[in-house]
Amino acid sequence: MSDAVQHTDVAIIGAGPVGLFAVFECGMLGLKCHVFDALGEAGGQCAALYPEKPIYDIPGYPAIDAASLVRKLEEQAAPFAPQYHLDQQVEHLSKQGNGFLIRTTRGVSVTARAVIIAAGAGAFGPNRPPLDGIEAYEGKGVFYLVTRREAFRGQRIVIAGGGDSAVDWAISLADVAAHVMLVHRRAKFRAAPESAARLEALAAEKRIELVVPYQLHALDGQDGKLEAVIVADLKGATRRLPADVLLPFFGLSTDLGPIAQWGLYLEHHRIAVQPASCMTSIEGIFAIGDVATYPGKLKLILSGFAEAAQAAHAIHPLVHPGEALHFEYSTTRGVPGR
Ligand SMILES: Cc1cc2nc3c(=O)[nH]c(=O)nc-3n(C[C@H](O)[C@H](O)[C@H](O)COP(=O)(O)OP(=O)(O)OC[C@H]3O[C@@H](n4cnc5c(N)ncnc54)[C@H](O)[C@@H]3O)c2cc1C
Repeated sequence: MSDAVQHTDVAIIGAGPVGLFAVFECGMLGLKCHVFDALGEAGGQCAALYPEKPIYDIPGYPAIDAASLVRKLEEQAAPFAPQYHLDQQVEHLSKQGNGFLIRTTRGVSVTARAVIIAAGAGAFGPNRPPLDGIEAYEGKGVFYLVTRREAFRGQRIVIAGGGDSAVDWAISLADVAAHVMLVHRRAKFRAAPESAARLEALAAEKRIELVVPYQLHALDGQDGKLEAVIVADLKGATRRLPADVLLPFFGLSTDLGPIAQWGLYLEHHRIAVQPASCMTSIEGIFAIGDVATYPGKLKLILSGFAEAAQAAHAIHPLVHPGEALHFEYSTTRGVPGR
């Protein structure tokens, strides 16, 4: 816990791709930033959900994997020396003086003249299968995300689920795992047609075992070390699948969490903003990226990048009242240290 209140120009809630780029855009206008994230690393959905997947619609990059994009955004933000507060959720936001007070679950308090909420879908978490004692295996034998497929080399893996994540990871992990078993309660998978065809081909080559129609029933192991996954068919008959790892992919639940209590005008669980400035219903609080909504909003990283630039320009007069802001290209203005 830290009692000393820190001060900054802009507090950015969310260190996803859009929050990271907001540091750059604010920095270019001379605005100092503190950045907060509930996750232990920066990158938001890119880092937590699909770090090894290529993204094809970032301008200037015909393909870039999500983890590399995050690294480049951190590099781009670095000259502006943002202060990161990771692994802590912002739970409190209130008006204070002519700015705002922010407090996190780790007791960090920061005051800022303006706030940018770049919180994506809010705090996101996996839909857990209702298996007795599953918590004891989480992080050891049960994982809801794959951040590095090499971590599973040589392992016996049970994947549960019937959608894109389950099918894509079964295909990908078949290259490194000792054995991959895919459990689904139906014989048909809800994956993209090319992925479903690839899955069938790998199953025919016996590189993936399809365990259908079955669902998860119980876990077997000791002291958090998984030994087997027990599955049951629709009549309740069980089967024991010896396994080192279970990857349940039943989608994510998202929750705006404390943000919904801050008095902002919401539309369908998103923060309504004025498109030209990204200002919310509270003056001085801005929202950008997936969390923001306005007519015609596209939930794409590139839209979030443009919104970051708009918010930074709208914030400048709040932090530097009376100071003229001349629009300048980055080529003209330059970047510190380059
Ligand atoms: C599988 C997949 C593939 C995708 N492919 C593409 C693609 O090809 N192209 C594309 O443009 N988009 C793609 N997307 C969407 C893209 O990832 C999102 O549009 C992007 O991540 C939104 O960025 P963001 O910074 O707004 O939010 P996020 O990436 O969601 O980051 C928000 C961050 O805010 C944090 N946060 C939330 N609430 C709080 C709080 N109260 N306190 C502290 N921290 C908080 C969260 O922990 C999170 O890290 C894909 C998404 C998925 C899931």
